[in-house]
Amino acid sequence: MTDVAIVGGGVIGCAAAYYLTEAGASVTLLERDGLAGEASGAAAGLLIPPAIYLLRQDTHLALKQAEALPAGALRDLGLASLRLYPSLVDALRDETGSDVQYKATGILLVAQTEGRAEALRALVRRQQESGPSLEWVEGEPLRRLEPGLSPALTGAAYSPEERHVNAALLTEALAGAAASRGAVLRRGAAVSRFLVSDSRVVAVCTGDGDKIAADHIVLAAGPWTRPLARRLGFDVPTRPMRGQMLAYRTSAVRHILWGDEGYLVPKAGGFLYAGATVEDVGFRPTTTRRGLAWLRRMARGLVPALRHGEVASAWAGLRPGSPDGHPIIGRLPGKDNVYVATGHFRNGILLGPITGKLIAQLITEGKTETSLAPFSAARFG
Ligand SMILES: Cc1cc2nc3c(=O)[nH]c(=O)nc-3n(C[C@H](O)[C@H](O)[C@H](O)COP(=O)(O)OP(=O)(O)OC[C@H]3O[C@@H](n4cnc5c(N)ncnc54)[C@H](O)[C@@H]3O)c2cc1C
Repeated sequence: MTDVAIVGGGVIGCAAAYYLTEAGASVTLLERDGLAGEASGAAAGLLIPPAIYLLRQDTHLALKQAEALPAGALRDLGLASLRLYPSLVDALRDETGSDVQYKATGILLVAQTEGRAEALRALVRRQQESGPSLEWVEGEPLRRLEPGLSPALTGAAYSPEERHVNAALLTEALAGAAASRGAVLRRGAAVSRFLVSDSRVVAVCTGDGDKIAADHIVLAAGPWTRPLARRLGFDVPTRPMRGQMLAYRTSAVRHILWGDEGYLVPKAGGFLYAGATVEDVGFRPTTTRRGLAWLRRMARGLVPALRHGEVASAWAGLRPGSPDGHPIIGRLPGKDNVYVATGHFRNGILLGPITGKLIAQLITEGKTETSLAPFSAARFG
């Protein structure tokens, strides 16, 4: 018998295991494959703060139902998670010895059209009213910051503090720290059904016929959460949104470069990630010739020398999307002891720590430090 059975060994399940064990709960985490084997191992690991975050929402998401959510709920969640990162990274280093490559390379939000330049200048002005975190740079100062940037690109909004992390190392370190506090990590354990008694799930069952009895169940299976929740009679409308990325072997770029269409991220070990496509093509985590050609075009539009860059590897992952682009976090309607944490779409690495913390609070204290109402699965009902 375990206090909590967590289904899914991505960043969300592992963060839940981390904070639940910190709160003293016993945890069994069931992952059908390896930890961080899906989106959480495919991510660029960008931890983009809310001002830029809003811009990112504007440009990359069709927020069809955003009006249905209180303004700022997602932004506040992102901020709260960002605040957790510095101490979490230190704790993970102390508890596991793991360096999750939490790096402040800064970001240049590069204007590739006049329209975008205007939007970015307006963003800089808005930001400076609440503190000088973004500045507008052009000409020689811009070239000094990023010598390889295309000469055709004349200005950028610059923030020196923006960070990223190695998403796979983060996920593994969260799980490792949870294990050091007694969590049982079961790899190769695919959950296929549940034993239900009235409004409670009393055990999760794996395809191999194992039964794990638990007081509480957390469904954190990324886009596969939907078929699992359906077995419990509720539709959690997350769907896979494919992202393709590639890695160049080069140290030529210093900052995160965020263009009109995609981004470049300088990673440890002399790699430069170029990302990412956003495709609604079902459960197909494969790269395509077209997707990779698009990424290469996007990359050399920002840094022309990448035309001759060596591509070290390419991969794809399935982001857990949601109809309004916001995560789905909280109790599963209709079941007293089942919780869901999915739908983090492009922000799961940023939002992983706060999601894990809130799930842990919900289970161990019956309440959370901030309201989960805007993220309830019931909003789609
Ligand atoms: C190309 C790309 C770039 C990205 N870049 C960023 C970024 O820069 N910043 C950011 O914040 N986010 C980014 N993301 C998004 C982020 O990766 C996701 O939001 C996040 O990883 C989702 O985590 P998860 O734990 O919910 O899902 P997953 O990582 O998919 O984990 C779910 C796990 O559940 C397991 N599972 C499924 N079914 C079962 C079952 N029946 N039994 C047991 N286990 C099961 C799966 O094997 C999987 O390991 C990116 C994603 C992609 C694809």
